[in-house]
Amino acid sequence: MPHIGEKTAERLANHIFEFNEKDRQALVKAILEINNLKTCKRCFNLASRDLCAICEDKNRKNSVLAVVETPLHIAPLERAGYRGVYHVLGGLIASFLHDPNELHLKELLKRIEQDEIKEVILALDNSLEGETTAMYVIKEVKNQKSKVKISRLAQGLSTGSNLEYADETTVREALRGRREI
Ligand SMILES: [Zn+2]
Repeated sequence: MPHIGEKTAERLANHIFEFNEKDRQALVKAILEINNLKTCKRCFNLASRDLCAICEDKNRKNSVLAVVETPLHIAPLERAGYRGVYHVLGGLIASFLHDPNELHLKELLKRIEQDEIKEVILALDNSLEGETTAMYVIKEVKNQKSKVKISRLAQGLSTGSNLEYADETTVREALRGRREI
């Protein structure tokens, strides 16, 4: 498992060993649920049905869409109070040699048109790859000539930082201070 060293793994195993029957069953059930996980047909988040819980939620602001690299980056935005919808790109452009067609970009352009998106917030990592990808997405969206507003998170996240590890206040401030491009 990433980021889990041998000692932490031992501690976790010990902790699970001390679970009561009910908790142990709940853990087994949660692990088995992995078999039912799919990718949301609309936003590419993880889902247990065709659409993820966020796309199915009728109380969200459907005209604001945050573009993220992976489903992992949805949780920090949710914790920061963001209540729009998402689009998971499925990666970043590592270099100009990397094929941007592997990203879910065509689907994003289609959604901007069809779902009447008014604002696209680029919530990508503050890294070279994040920057390259943001530039590419901006160019493609602008080429589409739609009236959508494009904004980026404020530079509150330090250079090279990953959204996944940013604290709630930092993400909230980065969202609040987002700038239109
Ligand atoms: Zn979804």
